[in-house]
Amino acid sequence: MRLDEDTIAAISTAMSPSGIGIVRISGSDAVSIAEQIYHSPNRNKKLSGQLSHTIHYGWIKDGDDFVDEVLLMLMRGPHTYTGEDTVEINCHGGILSVKKVLETVINHGARPAEPGEFTKRAFLRGRIDLSQAEAVMDVISAKNDYALKNSLGQLKGSVLEKIKDIRGAILYEDAYIESALDDPEHINIDGYGCKLKNIVDEQIKKIDKLLSTAGEGKMIQEGIKTVIVGKPNVGKSSLLNLLAGEEKAIVTDVAGTTRDILEETINLQGISLKMLDTAGIREASDKVEQIGVERAKKHAKDADLILYVIDANVVLDDNDRDIMELICDKKSIVLLNKSDLDCVVEKEDIESILKVPILSVSAKKGLGIEELENTIKDLFFNGEISFNDEVYITNERHKKSLQDARKSLELVEESIRLNMPEDFFTIDLVNACESLGEITGESVGEDLVNEIFSKFCTGK
Ligand code: GDP
Ligand code: ZN
Repeated sequence: MRLDEDTIAAISTAMSPSGIGIVRISGSDAVSIAEQIYHSPNRNKKLSGQLSHTIHYGWIKDGDDFVDEVLLMLMRGPHTYTGEDTVEINCHGGILSVKKVLETVINHGARPAEPGEFTKRAFLRGRIDLSQAEAVMDVISAKNDYALKNSLGQLKGSVLEKIKDIRGAILYEDAYIESALDDPEHINIDGYGCKLKNIVDEQIKKIDKLLSTAGEGKMIQEGIKTVIVGKPNVGKSSLLNLLAGEEKAIVTDVAGTTRDILEETINLQGISLKMLDTAGIREASDKVEQIGVERAKKHAKDADLILYVIDANVVLDDNDRDIMELICDKKSIVLLNKSDLDCVVEKEDIESILKVPILSVSAKKGLGIEELENTIKDLFFNGEISFNDEVYITNERHKKSLQDARKSLELVEESIRLNMPEDFFTIDLVNACESLGEITGESVGEDLVNEIFSKFCTGK
């Protein structure tokens, strides 16, 4: 893959007025470009003569014009984010001042960086692998504590390590067989299939273990798809409002719909609930609310979690029984709401019909919410999520490549079973390596790399 040698620059901080803004320059001319526009109060000071990883106070000037007062960070490769010489100019964070500094840098020979180009260079220079590069974006876009922790783990190389281990074992076998085929007099691989089968088995098990985390991984990353169902007036809206409490809710407008809010993310103790169809609940006051059965029907299929709210002061009726029937094979939690009042519905009444957690809550008084949060974690993550040695596959691309690698390894086993000649083994061993290499970036085409980095933000 081609590694551009030119020097790139971009604004690396958000484009809104803030305390400071950072313009990052990377490439072989980074220092000489900075030198042309940086002016130290000490007239004799030359940037090019300064040590790496030092900070310098001064001004950026475009010819005779003062552009901004800055702190300039000088970092020489290879110990930089991109692996190249890098200068970061900390200027005042007004939109105009950051733009002017960038303009000045561009006028003196840098090219505007494309989205993700700094990280792409880090990848192409071998500073990080592709899974780590992808983790950079995941860290930036993390929606909850667990997603952040998992992405940081991936950034440190958790996925890379697992893949390297499996890939290494397969490569070793491939190399061994190939050398035996080249040199049959010295290396005898008669009956090798049996040993190979054990090793391939072992790798398939490791892949399966990784794949088995993908479901949870997706829920960590994107949130647990949750829907609130229940008859009118039981307290669905109150519950949603309580869970969403001002500072917790991240409301996203989904484009292309006439209803205002269709999806919002609620953060609880490190995990996210992606609430489905909240417009129906929020707007209930002016429209006849869909009865719970309809909502349950509509969402029972695509929701990961159903919160079924019951007014504990009202005896159960046929509607309740219909809803329970619809959700009985789903991950659901029954909430006996209005527990602050006298209750006529008891847990036992429901336990006999529905084998799911049943909690007493009061949406009005805010009772039972912590228990609800803990119950959700138990249901989906067996309690606490530990990131000490756990790796969660959160990236669809990684999942697909793991599945491909697994298929190739199955073909190896098939060839062993059918007593095929050894060179049949190597074809599929190599394919498995290729698939795993897509995750780390060892075997990916330029198009895919470009596509991955084009989704990054500019300046990263
Ligand atoms: P929805 O139709 O299911 O969305 O129900 P709402 O959230 O609109 O609530 C219906 C009524 O029940 C409102 O008057 C709420 O104030 C009341 N309510 C909701 N939760 C509780 C609760 O936990 N305790 C009590 N006492 N009233 C509640
Ligand atoms: Zn409502």
